[in-house]
Amino acid sequence: METPAEAATRLRDAGCSVVAMHFADSAGMSRVKVIPLRRLESVARNGTGWSDIWAVVTVDEHFALVPPFDTPSGDCRLVPDAACARSLPFLTGYAWAPVDQFTQELEPLPVCPRGVLRTAEARLATLGLTAQATFEVEMTLLRDGQPATPGPGYSVRSLIAVRDFARDLAGALDDACVPVEQVHPEYSPGQFEVSVEPSAPIEAADRLLLLRFTARAVAAAHGLDVSFAPVVFSGGLGNGSHLHLSLWRGDVNLLTGGDGPAGMQPDGAAFVAGIRDELPALMGVVAPSVASYLRLQPGHWAGAYTAWGVENREASLRFIPGTVTSRARSANVELKVTDGAANPYYALACSLHAGRAGVERGATLPEPTQEDPGTLDAAALMARGIRRLPENLGEAAEAFAASAALRDGLGVIQHDALTAVRRKEWSDHGAKSEDELVALHRFAY
Ligand code: GLU
Ligand code: MG
Repeated sequence: METPAEAATRLRDAGCSVVAMHFADSAGMSRVKVIPLRRLESVARNGTGWSDIWAVVTVDEHFALVPPFDTPSGDCRLVPDAACARSLPFLTGYAWAPVDQFTQELEPLPVCPRGVLRTAEARLATLGLTAQATFEVEMTLLRDGQPATPGPGYSVRSLIAVRDFARDLAGALDDACVPVEQVHPEYSPGQFEVSVEPSAPIEAADRLLLLRFTARAVAAAHGLDVSFAPVVFSGGLGNGSHLHLSLWRGDVNLLTGGDGPAGMQPDGAAFVAGIRDELPALMGVVAPSVASYLRLQPGHWAGAYTAWGVENREASLRFIPGTVTSRARSANVELKVTDGAANPYYALACSLHAGRAGVERGATLPEPTQEDPGTLDAAALMARGIRRLPENLGEAAEAFAASAALRDGLGVIQHDALTAVRRKEWSDHGAKSEDELVALHRFAY
């Protein structure tokens, strides 16, 4: 493992002079502190200060006061993970590092997003299992407040409108060790998508933050602004941040090579079933904003029902078997409901806890749903055990609050903190108009 001193030398040799320490908070918003590179060793040892009340911040930067985060007193330490720091050649002189949070006694903070995800991975490891993950990020590019691409979806016309951005973003991400699989203009005017290779979960969440950081830098260099919000224009289609997951025992992908549903192996199917069973509660972390529910409408390919299906883009859980030549590596399940308001560490941690709980109790999957669940009548939905997912943040917050699996996985302090944030965002903003919600969330992430 590279020491902070070795990391500092590596980054200095790459031409860096400062390190951007980047993390995400309870509202899913990006926060950053910049230190001179010469301080990296010292800050990696001692951290830098941050009020621990940010564990309960809401999207409009108020606080959901809940013990122990109910006074202005208290501090925690932000500690850059120096070994994971990387230089950003696109942003001259900058390095980027993800952040762990500790108490002033340098003990793990129960509300450290990376720590929470680390715990979820460790609990999966007790079953001899690991996960691979990646986020497929949709964003909206804006020029002077208007969509920067004209459409049609996936068109050369849209690509050419942002050609320099597209090339520079792909290059800048690769240079920052975020291996790009593809970029393309998405369906709606202004929409643009980036897919990156799967990795271990913490790296996948780190990459999502770094992808947003890089996209902002590249967009600014081209006179563009970028929104990762679930909905950017009233009445428009939304931006997802679809979470792809696979489950592994050693080097065997348990989502393929078996004789279970869609070729899954028993533990793989139980993992997917565990996520499916917990979907309403998971909404509290994967679609965690009031605006998320403007996006999650039937017929929008975002997933509005508790259904799983094979390559079904209207299912909230889309199983992707992969091509016959790549299946052993690439078979995965996509949690389509996930959006850009999600703190990626919490989204991943809760998904892993739900999946692990499914493995532990031997959860089973019903038959896959291959139709659009929105076209099934009430009797068919009932027969297949399909329910409408929460239709607003208020319902999602209560499903999250009631989840024993997520409370056990996150721990009481973290679960109470996130519950309080979701409830406050709903009570403060739930009655707002679509225009007001769009404006509130547009540049939050
Ligand atoms: N933009 C859609 C969403 O809100 C997803 C479209 C797609 O399947 O890529 O998630
Ligand atoms: Mg897409």
